[in-house]
Amino acid sequence: MAPSDSPLKTVDEHLRDILSAIEVLSPLDVMLLDAHGCVLAEDVASAYPLPPFDNSAMDGYAVRASDVAAASAERPVTLPVVGDVAAGSTTPYTVQPGLCVRIMTGAPMPPGADAVVPVEWTDGGIAQVVVRRPAGAGMHVRSAGEDVAAGTTVLKEGSHLGAPQVGLLAAVGRERALVRPRPRVVVLSTGSELVDPGQPLTTGKIPDANSSLLTAAAQEAGAIAYRVGIVPDDPTLLIDTLEDQLIRADLVVTSGGVSVGAYDVVKEALGRLGEVRFDRVAMQPGMPQGFGLIGQDRIPFFGLPGNPVSAFVSFEVFVRPALRRMLGVEPLHRPTVRARLTKALTSPPGKRTYARGWLSVDKGEYVVAPVGGSGSHLIAGLAGANSFVVIPEDTSEVEAGTAVTVMMLERRHR
Ligand code: AMP
Ligand code: MG
Repeated sequence: MAPSDSPLKTVDEHLRDILSAIEVLSPLDVMLLDAHGCVLAEDVASAYPLPPFDNSAMDGYAVRASDVAAASAERPVTLPVVGDVAAGSTTPYTVQPGLCVRIMTGAPMPPGADAVVPVEWTDGGIAQVVVRRPAGAGMHVRSAGEDVAAGTTVLKEGSHLGAPQVGLLAAVGRERALVRPRPRVVVLSTGSELVDPGQPLTTGKIPDANSSLLTAAAQEAGAIAYRVGIVPDDPTLLIDTLEDQLIRADLVVTSGGVSVGAYDVVKEALGRLGEVRFDRVAMQPGMPQGFGLIGQDRIPFFGLPGNPVSAFVSFEVFVRPALRRMLGVEPLHRPTVRARLTKALTSPPGKRTYARGWLSVDKGEYVVAPVGGSGSHLIAGLAGANSFVVIPEDTSEVEAGTAVTVMMLERRHR
């Protein structure tokens, strides 16, 4: 525990300590749809070519190109149709010279045929067909392996599995995949003043905003997040709850109870569960920060401050990079841009400030407007922001019109 007069730790030092304690999660073999949104932990090759066989790209007639080379609107060519092949069809037709087969999109090209005349270029005949335009060799035929040759690596380890990648895994015949699992995050709020949203507010009570805020933030960061909810300011209850929850956690986040007030239970309780340090970090908001490893499995633990804005800034600056490290994805940090500040801002000397901002583009240039006040309880201001203006430790005033660094949050529309 850091006494209140000890020197402050910098944001970068705290982040470095956190990241040095966090490891990438071990790969897990999961069903394809459970792999969606995860990071691939293996190289995947296709055992067969894609498409697997030559097939028709159109509904039409499989022909020998040489038989229709002379076809025109004025002098159409008429060919007997010897049969039909539909997608999935296994009927073995061979197209002899002067004949053709009616074919549907995706159906295998019959031996002998080397082109498909689209039905639109014909009279659509069933016993025989009148062809009014020539189709060159290979026309409207999707060749085996034109997308992927057999044995090719189609996705590399580290690829993000969005919908198209999940589709590709299915197309190469995979029903399971080895992935970096989503970290399971347990979120709880400490505070005897808290009630669940929707419950009546008796004197001195406030709704617990943080457990919903942090659960949602963890989900946005790619985690499976469990909102455990409220634990009153009672160290024994907190320890019991954490011990119950550790079994399903890869990471634990609490809010509240980490400053120097009486009833700061997190500080009191966590010493008994593992090695957790409580530091004063040179940042605004979010100065008190708890971090350590708890339980038998040494699960990363974050004790974030209780004010909602402090909790969210701490999540963005410390917890989200840790989750991304566990997922094995880069970059760990939110993208930043330089933007012109529309209104002067101040920052406590020696601290890094994360002020809420609205980033937009004006005449091809990034512009950022401060949103709300500087109080770390101002959750409406936070909800009206799409970015943080980052004011470095050595700066205490920034004039309007100055270029500042802006950390971009999840994209959203006003
Ligand atoms: P603490 O860090 O526990 O001293 O809390 C600091 C401030 O944040 C106090 O005003 C708390 O009431 C408030 N606070 C703590 N936890 C929450 C929460 N889960 N939701 C909303 N406000 C909270
Ligand atoms: Mg509290």
